[in-house]
Amino acid sequence: MLQCYMCGSKIREGEGQRRHIVTGTRSAQVRGGDRFDMRDQSEISVAGARTELRMLCAGCAADHDARQRRNTLVALAVFAVVAVLFAAGAFFAWNHFQEEKRKADQDFERDRQQMHDDFERRQKGMDQDFERRRREMDSR
Ligand SMILES: [Zn+2]
Repeated sequence: MLQCYMCGSKIREGEGQRRHIVTGTRSAQVRGGDRFDMRDQSEISVAGARTELRMLCAGCAADHDARQRRNTLVALAVFAVVAVLFAAGAFFAWNHFQEEKRKADQDFERDRQQMHDDFERRQKGMDQDFERRRREMDSR
């Protein structure tokens, strides 16, 4: 007679359900020493946690499935939050970049205008000097 791994109740032949159950961590497994050698196909390590295929009664299998679904939902929610934060970060970074670019363009335009004005003023001054000198030479 089989026993439920979770609640220990007896399982009749054909009524048990096999599920991957977390039975320990990888580090615990390594500390376990000789258990490492007994590792077989029913043991799967997922992100440091060791799971083993165990027989469960119908109730515990349902609980386990519900917990797995909840874990999956939590993982999805965490992923969604991370994705949203990442997207928001990218959006703000892009906005910031656009703002910086706009400011840089404005600065550039102002500098260009300033240089243009300076050049015009200097040109005008030179023209005036030239004109004055020409008149001085004429009057001589
Ligand atoms: Zn059970």
